[in-house]
Amino acid sequence: MSALVNNVFCVGRNYRLHAAELGNAVPEEPLIFLKPSHAVVPLDGSRLAMPKGRGTVHFEGEIVIQASRDYTPGMTVDELVEVMALGFDFTLRDVQSVIKEKGHPWTAAKGFKNSAPLTAYITFPGNDQLSQTDFTVLKNGKEKQRGNAGDMIFSLQHIIDYIGHHYGLGNGDLIFTGTPAGVGPVDRGDVLELFWGKECLGRCQIE
Ligand code: ZN
Repeated sequence: MSALVNNVFCVGRNYRLHAAELGNAVPEEPLIFLKPSHAVVPLDGSRLAMPKGRGTVHFEGEIVIQASRDYTPGMTVDELVEVMALGFDFTLRDVQSVIKEKGHPWTAAKGFKNSAPLTAYITFPGNDQLSQTDFTVLKNGKEKQRGNAGDMIFSLQHIIDYIGHHYGLGNGDLIFTGTPAGVGPVDRGDVLELFWGKECLGRCQIE
């Protein structure tokens, strides 16, 4: 694992049912946006402050992979990735709606402090094995999202090739790989947990 976090890439609309629930078309190529590295904080059970007075904050639970070396063309996911985690791509949904309408950049809706909390890292099981396990998001003990890498529109290989080619992808970079259906609002006091199979990898309480 690399303790260092460099660039934070995120994939939008990478699961059909989630694109549909927000009324978005399924993209023809990966939709990539960035978050500041300051958005990344540990999901270690502590309280997590969310922006106040800016409308609804939505949780988006996601598989997060980390590049363990610098990408070069032809490299496979298994060669690039040694560890993964789960994380939230927190989103100011009302702000995002205005931004989409105006054609403004997504930073205000997606890049705020604490907007990319990350669980502990686990060993990457390998690209073929990844879809053997579902990940789930629990809010106050109830399952809200269930996702599986097998349902991604763009595979991890496609995503790393795309990011590597267009933007560069190096040791320590994180990729949030998109969220399945079931996103929803968080309120003060909510407890959010991220599970990989039956194992809870991280939790937080919203403040
Ligand atoms: Zn997302």
